Amino acid sequence: MRHYFYPLVNEVKNYPWGSYSALNQRFKIPNPDDQPQAELWMGVHPAGISQVGDEDGSCSLAELIAGDKTAMLGRRIAEQFGDLPYLLKILAAERALSIQVHPQKAQAQAGFHRQQNNPPDYNDDNHKPELVYAITPFMAMNGFRQPTEIVRNFKKLNISSLEAVLNLLALHPCAETMQAFFVTLMQLPQDEKQKALTRLLDEAEALYDANLASFIFRLRQHYPDDIGLFAPLFLNSLTLQPGEAMFLSPGTLHAYVQGVAVEVMASSDNVLRAGLTDKNINLAELVACTVFEPISEEQLRMAPAKHVGWQHYDVPVEDFCFDVYSEANNLAIQTTSAEIVLVIDGHAVLEHASGKILTLYAGKSAFIPASTRDWTLSITGTLCRVYA
Ligand SMILES: [Zn+2]
Repeated sequence: MRHYFYPLVNEVKNYPWGSYSALNQRFKIPNPDDQPQAELWMGVHPAGISQVGDEDGSCSLAELIAGDKTAMLGRRIAEQFGDLPYLLKILAAERALSIQVHPQKAQAQAGFHRQQNNPPDYNDDNHKPELVYAITPFMAMNGFRQPTEIVRNFKKLNISSLEAVLNLLALHPCAETMQAFFVTLMQLPQDEKQKALTRLLDEAEALYDANLASFIFRLRQHYPDDIGLFAPLFLNSLTLQPGEAMFLSPGTLHAYVQGVAVEVMASSDNVLRAGLTDKNINLAELVACTVFEPISEEQLRMAPAKHVGWQHYDVPVEDFCFDVYSEANNLAIQTTSAEIVLVIDGHAVLEHASGKILTLYAGKSAFIPASTRDWTLSITGTLCRVYA
């Protein structure tokens, strides 16, 4: 039996950095064992496949799509990707995630196949561009600062092993010197690292502006001896306000620090780490996947195209599109690919001309096949819509 709207049942990931209360309080996601609830996954990535439920019972979203790819995905997406090309998450960070980079597609393909039998770094063969849309104020570090800022921030710490490479970076600010600086920093001798961390923590307020210092203090709470405490000195450190979004291309070094957000990405779970973690750090692989170019805060933040009742965030990849709807009534929507809608707050009513109606509350999501075509949306609050 074909339906127009399929409510999703999604997997919660209990990673240690997750919030014990945010998903439970905001979205009423049960937390009976008092676990850190880090992420809710909506999609068909093998590490966390959504279930679809209806009056006929339930099956996995992957099975539903495989049953009729053209009807579910639309001809174009079925031919280009062969499956749902994106993964949607709600993310609730109580403490920082690891400093990380996601590979380009060719790097992921090579890395995944190379490591099939021993996969500490690659979980699939896909790239992972990602968009973050803040639900609460969301602290994040993202992309290299300008070389002049990096040099200024580190010179204040008088780290003798960094002296030469900082001078080089000041004189020739380019990808090669940026990489040399980063590799030297990541390999600081233990005693020098400790000395510099002590100075950083003792004097952050005197040496740096209030925003930068607030990131250092936030990180110190959970990672007091970690090399990642230096990250705010070389990565842009920004706080998205609710409703603001940013986009990260593969190759951009980043770490999410605190807050609740929606995250949309290509269907991938590939992460290479550089600190704020107990997990394996593969420096050579990380460096190979990192783009050593500065990026400004303005380039990271997305300016949506605004329409009455909704806004569109233009993403420079083909794997997904992202729209946000708020306070709209009977808005006509045409679906031409596989879509997932997620209610961020309030409630939404999805209605099809056949008379089928689905009501969704905050934290609830639904899959809409390409074959549904025309439907109308009413939303009290905010809803996001992901399609391809
Ligand atoms: Zn990431």
